[in-house]
Amino acid sequence: MRTRGIAMFQYRCAQCRTTSPAAHSRHELNAERNRHRDLFHGGHIPDGEQIIAPRRMSLLDLPGEQRIAAVVLTVVLVVAYMIRF
Ligand SMILES: [Zn+2]
Repeated sequence: MRTRGIAMFQYRCAQCRTTSPAAHSRHELNAERNRHRDLFHGGHIPDGEQIIAPRRMSLLDLPGEQRIAAVVLTVVLVVAYMIRF
């Protein structure tokens, strides 16, 4: 997940079946994870806990026409670069 260019992470506990609110930094995420471990698991590490990181966007995530436009633009730039040299 990404909001206004800031990477956001979430902590998920599979034992409790809960997901934390988004943390705005790794430091904030670690604090949330440690708080959860202390409050609900006596400081132990619950099995199956996860860090949900923002997914990286790829060309395949674009809608079809934007994907085609990106490929065409790339080809045009490569051809223009080759013609110049
Ligand atoms: Zn838990």
